[in-house]
Amino acid sequence: MHPTNWRARLTDPVSLFAVAALAVLVLIWATTFSQVSRERVAAVESAKSLAADVAETYEAQVVRALREIDHTLKLVRYNLATESPVRVLANLRHMELLPPELLFTVSILGADGKVLATTHPLNEERQPRAAFVRLVRRNSDITVSVPSLDSVANEWRLFFGRPYHDGSDQFAGVISLSVHSGYFVSGYEQGVLGAESVLALLGIDGVFRARRTGNDVSAGEHVSYESVVPDVAPTRADAVIARNPWDDISRFTVARKLFEFPLAIVVGLSESEQLEPMRQRVSTYMGRAAIASALLTAVFGVLGWVSWQLQKTRENAVHERIVHAKRVEYLAFHDNLTGLPNRALLSRSLAEDIRVSRREGSRLAVMFLDIDRFKNINDSLGHDAGDAVLRAFGERLRTVIGRDKTVARFGGDEFVVLLPRIAGRQDILRALDKLLGELNKPFELAGHEFRVTVSIGITMFPDDGEDEHTLIRNADITMFYAKEQGKNNFQFYSDDLSSDSLEKLSLESSLRNALDRDELRLYYQAKYELSSGRVVGVEALLRWCHPDLGVITPMQFIPLAEETGLIVPIGRWVLNTACLQNVAWQWAGISPLSMAVNLSARQFLDRTLLADVKHALDSSGMSPNQLELEITESMVMQDVERAVRILDSLKSMGVKIAVDDFGTGYSSLSTLKRFPVDTFKIDRSFIRDLTSSAADRSLVEAIIALGKSLRLTVVAEGVETATQAELLRRLGCDQIQGYHTNEPVPEDEFAAILGGQSLAWSRN
Ligand code: C2E
Ligand code: MG
Ligand code: MG
Repeated sequence: MHPTNWRARLTDPVSLFAVAALAVLVLIWATTFSQVSRERVAAVESAKSLAADVAETYEAQVVRALREIDHTLKLVRYNLATESPVRVLANLRHMELLPPELLFTVSILGADGKVLATTHPLNEERQPRAAFVRLVRRNSDITVSVPSLDSVANEWRLFFGRPYHDGSDQFAGVISLSVHSGYFVSGYEQGVLGAESVLALLGIDGVFRARRTGNDVSAGEHVSYESVVPDVAPTRADAVIARNPWDDISRFTVARKLFEFPLAIVVGLSESEQLEPMRQRVSTYMGRAAIASALLTAVFGVLGWVSWQLQKTRENAVHERIVHAKRVEYLAFHDNLTGLPNRALLSRSLAEDIRVSRREGSRLAVMFLDIDRFKNINDSLGHDAGDAVLRAFGERLRTVIGRDKTVARFGGDEFVVLLPRIAGRQDILRALDKLLGELNKPFELAGHEFRVTVSIGITMFPDDGEDEHTLIRNADITMFYAKEQGKNNFQFYSDDLSSDSLEKLSLESSLRNALDRDELRLYYQAKYELSSGRVVGVEALLRWCHPDLGVITPMQFIPLAEETGLIVPIGRWVLNTACLQNVAWQWAGISPLSMAVNLSARQFLDRTLLADVKHALDSSGMSPNQLELEITESMVMQDVERAVRILDSLKSMGVKIAVDDFGTGYSSLSTLKRFPVDTFKIDRSFIRDLTSSAADRSLVEAIIALGKSLRLTVVAEGVETATQAELLRRLGCDQIQGYHTNEPVPEDEFAAILGGQSLAWSRN
């Protein structure tokens, strides 16, 4: 992990809480354990010193008692030298020199063991046994018996004895003193020592003379003396913790041999009892520490959780802001529909490419593409279909061009491709070849296959412009030129297309005035009947004679007129003018012709259409069946029911209907059949390569056959050569229209053509 990450991790609130909590926990437990160990040491020390104190006191008591006993024995012995045993005891009792009789029994026995005198004649159990007498006789020092059970008093008794001698120093008998064992352990204070401590008098033979544990007094039990009493007794007895062998209880034990007697005292303070208060305190400390730890953990846990949540919320907010910012940035520079760079990003990329080209001295091409007749797709198949086509088109473009180069959507059905680092036209042509090859493949839309064509305008840096604005504008103009050249082609920019003409058009404002200023003209193009060799009709084609720009073709301003709604008054003017002109020609002696007038989509759907047609016919006096209105497939496919109604109304007026640019729309045969149509006009894009392309030829054949089967007149548009005309005649086409017959011309020229029979066709 990166060091700054570590630092960030450590200083983030959650880690800080965890570290702080851990530190406090360590502190709590360290304090607790040190307190506990201090308590334990103190408790052990105080128990040891208590044991030592008790031992000292006990030893003093025992020694005093033993000395008194021995003193009594010696006193009796001394008196026996002068008086009889009975007198001795009587005198000593009288002088109150004997120990209390309730506890002690003093007896004098003869050498044969017979009781000569006793302070307790009634209880024989208090008299020593013969074995004891034998023992005492052998011992010049004080003798201490093993305990024997006094069945009368139900208690253990101890016998102390010394021998006495007669005047000739012969063994004369034994003086005995007996006392119950409990006497030596009566100093047991329950309050101080508890219920499990021990006071005991142990013979050096390992037999307990007396032992008291709580209220329980016993005697006579045997233990290994060495295991209880240490060899060398220290001056002040130090207590040791020992597990006492007789009852296996652990005690602070002091055991010490008495100096003048064959006995040892044993003091044992129960370890568990002595340490119990300490244990209780310890468990209180532990409990407190545990509660404190739990509380602390809970508090820090909650704080940590809250701050973690806060942090997460903050992180989420930051993340969302970043995502949002990225999205906004993306949207700002990309087209919603295709995901391609938009105009803004295009401008940036182009500026960058220009910089690179300038630095490297290389060239750069800008291609401006526009899908041909895209409006038809939108109008006839709907906007969703149009969108799908744009998406598919954009995707295909991007695939062909490669993701390392810029493919942008400029707007509507316009796309721009940048080809950086090219040497010259050769490179562009190669790219175009690939591009057109791909784009000409059919697209699939809702299970239908169809093709689109494009018109492309191309500029090069630095030849056709030094900055991105000029390069794109000129490419746009060039594309427009390519459209004019019959669509489905590409054009390189040249200065002839120069900036002055089209780009400076501020068409909209001048178009508004065109009607008033009488700048609109109609040009006429003949329709020639192949079977009779006669001109049977004429199509009126609109021109705008701009005072500065010269003659502008409808392709250039009709979309604008549509958009602005100006097409309706303009269309009305066209209808009136065409009808009046036709009638004028007839008056001039020209045989009646059918007059074809183009309608635009907006005009077709306009409420005033029927009234306008009627007005044109009425005011000119032209026969309705001489008027043929040209509509396109897309115009009627949008709302079939409504179109059928409008067409029916027009039909009922006697007007004829032609479907213009037939073959470029996407109308189905079944729908077409519902329209009361008189004429199909085969689009000129099928005628162009008619003689060379087998596909186009079979398509034209099919359209002719379809027209025939529907009993319609079939007209071929854009016929430019005699070969095309001848082939069409053979294929059974009814009429032709195109430059081969005549280019669209003003009315007087057209009249001259008709009158002088100077039609190109007839010249041949
Ligand atoms: P369109 O109705 O298909 O008209 C035929 C177009 O083909 C005319 O273009 C004509 O000049 C051109 N043309 C005729 N013969 C040939 C040929 O042999 N070769 C080639 N390459 N072209 C030929 P124009 O006059 O520029 O009109 C273009 C379109 O503008 C028309 O196509 C029509 O759709 C529309 N238009 C023309 N006049 C009007 C009008 O008064 N009202 C409306 N709404 N649309 C009009
Ligand atoms: Mg037309
Ligand atoms: Mg046409």
